[in-house]
Amino acid sequence: MRVIAVMNQKGGVGKTTSSVNIAAGLARAGRRVCLIDLDPQAHSSIHLGLEATGKDSIYQIFAGAKAFNDVRQMISSNLWIAPADLDLAATELELVDAPGREFVLRKALEEAKASEQFDYVILDCPPSLGVLTINALTAATEVFIPLQPHFFALQGLSKLLETTALVARRLNRNLKVSGILLCLFETGTRLATDVTDDLLRFLRNSDPQAPWAGAKVFGTRIRRNIKLAEAPSFAQSIFEYAPGSSGAQDYGNLVTEMLSAEPGFVAQAA
Ligand code: ADP
Ligand code: MG
Repeated sequence: MRVIAVMNQKGGVGKTTSSVNIAAGLARAGRRVCLIDLDPQAHSSIHLGLEATGKDSIYQIFAGAKAFNDVRQMISSNLWIAPADLDLAATELELVDAPGREFVLRKALEEAKASEQFDYVILDCPPSLGVLTINALTAATEVFIPLQPHFFALQGLSKLLETTALVARRLNRNLKVSGILLCLFETGTRLATDVTDDLLRFLRNSDPQAPWAGAKVFGTRIRRNIKLAEAPSFAQSIFEYAPGSSGAQDYGNLVTEMLSAEPGFVAQAA
């Protein structure tokens, strides 16, 4: 079970759009996927048609009231979601002094892992480095960082990478930043090219012991595409809402790129 935290403390960089469409794309490719919405704004829940208020949500996991299997629900073939709701905003405060507060999500996922229910769990993180994001990093086997290529993108990145290093040291030894995903990409602009070059140089010059040392920048770039912004209002992934769009093409290619990294893929292709 690969557990992927889609993380960046900046808002509006494409975390939710990527979480939803990666989850939907992997499910279409036959993988069993559970998307966990860790953002109190519940954007990915709403994107997939779930207004979670008043129903079972991931909040109950953090409140210790329910087991993971009681809050996740199947929404289409191969795709499950554990929705968020606004109550989740209280979690940061409620857990502030709780012993073991960083491990709640990891513990909750143990049964799913043991029973091999899912091939992938995708964690859509909130735009902060608080206790929910720390829980995601503690439960994750890897981190994807969506990045919008503009001038300040790399500044925020170092803070974010420090946090992953801290979690890797203290809470989750195996944590790796596996992929950096360029979102809202403006093909052919000077800025996008410059930021991408800076990013590649930064990764090349990083400490080989750092959790992001092996990170790759996905070859697939997610271009700006209005259909991606429209799809949530129709409670559909991009593959349902606009299968011929550049957004569907980009997320489709990204999923193919992810699948090509699965163990066994090379053997199959050879
Ligand atoms: P985050 O979860 O990091 O806050 P979102 O995925 O919600 O970011 O994206 C922020 C806004 O940008 C949303 O309105 C979303 O629909 C839009 N958006 C995201 N990716 C794209 C894209 N590639 N092209 C056009 N709009 C996008
Ligand atoms: Mg979001």
